[in-house]
Amino acid sequence: MNTKLISVVIPCYNEEINAPLMHQELSLVCEALAHKYDFEFIFVNDGSKDATWLRISECATADPRVHGISFSRNFGHQNALEAGLLAARGAAVISIDADFEQPPALITRLIERWEGGYHVVNTRRVYNDELEWSGFKRITSKAFYSLMNAISDVPVERGGCDFRLLDRAVVDTLTTIKEADRFYRGLVNWVGFKNTVVEYEPAKRRNGVTNYTLAKMVSLAWAGITSFSTVPMKGIILLGAATAAAAGLLLLFMGWVRFFMGSHYFSEMAFLVVSIIAMNGITMIALGVIAMYILRIHKEVQGRPNYIVQKTINL
Ligand code: UDP
Ligand code: MG
Repeated sequence: MNTKLISVVIPCYNEEINAPLMHQELSLVCEALAHKYDFEFIFVNDGSKDATWLRISECATADPRVHGISFSRNFGHQNALEAGLLAARGAAVISIDADFEQPPALITRLIERWEGGYHVVNTRRVYNDELEWSGFKRITSKAFYSLMNAISDVPVERGGCDFRLLDRAVVDTLTTIKEADRFYRGLVNWVGFKNTVVEYEPAKRRNGVTNYTLAKMVSLAWAGITSFSTVPMKGIILLGAATAAAAGLLLLFMGWVRFFMGSHYFSEMAFLVVSIIAMNGITMIALGVIAMYILRIHKEVQGRPNYIVQKTINL
């Protein structure tokens, strides 16, 4: 019997072929580590429409290390991760996709880093041109991470994904945060602790198709931006201020011209249009200000702790 338990969380949506293959592969990888660690494999069936849950149940019958959770419908990858993190009992928890895009063998490296004193071991895919990672996905991913890093309060690794190892301390912190629409790639950096990155070459998805449709990617990106950035609200205020200022100056100029050069220069209509634009600018400022107050409510509702204590002494 080993002392350290390591949990592996695998969110699965329509992965009837991959889920049992993943179980086999994980068993192989973990066999080499069996002299030091015990393992548990937590498969989360995110409302699959195929036989994924049946396959997971079969694995669980054959192998007591396998634990299964099945959602009543599809709640999305991030929520499946949350369920897995909550169920995991290990001293370290590794999350990995079911489709083999991320090499299970890398788990050994993640554990080594963890033993080296890191609490968070993130992974980053290195781009491999031979692999036809669809051009569309690469471009959207690149655009998203550039935008995210430009506007958000916490850094988010480019080419990052949800293949990572978390120490028990980090898992416990993450599971106390009750905000909805979590964006783990941001939260994991937000909580701090000592972290590092391991690079890997992504492989091709083995069976099935990607479940991250454009709509799901947009919703993930939106969750990331709204939970880690206040730039959109400040942007509205700035835009409103710029519009109101420009239109106001233009009005003054038009008034001056008409006053000194005669009434044939700018029509009443022109005055009306520019006044409306100026008013719109003022409305936008007001909306932005309201948004800043809503932000305060938003933060209260997110309920993130104001700080996270990692250690204390003589307390
Ligand atoms: N997944 C999930 N729920 C979803 C979509 C995906 O649990 O609604 C799982 C999926 O089974 C896989 C992982 O999340 O294990 C990553 O999804 P996918 O491979 O489809 O995304 P991609 O790698 O193409 O971004
Ligand atoms: Mg994938």
